[in-house]
Amino acid sequence: MDYNRAIETYKQLQGHKALQLRAVLFDMDGVLFDSMPYHADAWSKVMTDAGFAFSREDVYMNEGRTGADTINTASMSQFGKSAAEELIDSLCKAKCRIFDTYPPTPRMPGAIELVQKVKACGLTPMIVTGSGTPTLLDRIQSNFPGLFDENHIISSFHVKRGKPYPDPYLLALERGGLEPHEAIVVENAPLGVTAGVAAGLFTVAANTGPLDPQVLTNAGASLVFPSIEALCSEWEKLFEALK
Ligand code: CA
Repeated sequence: MDYNRAIETYKQLQGHKALQLRAVLFDMDGVLFDSMPYHADAWSKVMTDAGFAFSREDVYMNEGRTGADTINTASMSQFGKSAAEELIDSLCKAKCRIFDTYPPTPRMPGAIELVQKVKACGLTPMIVTGSGTPTLLDRIQSNFPGLFDENHIISSFHVKRGKPYPDPYLLALERGGLEPHEAIVVENAPLGVTAGVAAGLFTVAANTGPLDPQVLTNAGASLVFPSIEALCSEWEKLFEALK
């Protein structure tokens, strides 16, 4: 991959003279944790039981949306109307009930090594996730001990509009006292990439799910890696180009 060319294209598109990297904004599900297979199972089951056509691939295509937005988007396209509040509430709860029966999700291979490398380069690692479970902080601190400051974790508790809107990433920039040219995003989902790009950020994708990598390029990713491990092993070269 030609990192310099990707960086030049980004700078021209966003009108930045230079990148001055200070922080890396990590998405969580499918980037730091290998949790998407569980989310795909739980969402496709709950939605199908409720009468929606909703495959595992649909879960990946909607990844990053809030639960309510996922249900509403499907309802609009399949039934031509938004879903009732009660339906949204019951489906979200049913999905969480199923998800909670699964074993704890493992860390994504290569994720802790990548965050450690980012920190060792003097950069601030942050998390920007559409997830919002009460145990989120505990899970992050026990799996990535000492790597993320609590103030540098943006979850669905903090923003009204989730991805693909840029709001979660814009809030991360505000929290970190950062300009868009001072941070990059690591995402795995097309809507997450859309959110990062809409916030004006250089967005790197790792295709950790079953989608064609082209959907990540089409969403605006400046670079697409086949895994977090691949990104981790390329980190030194990428960091050199971003400096
Ligand atoms: Ca994700």
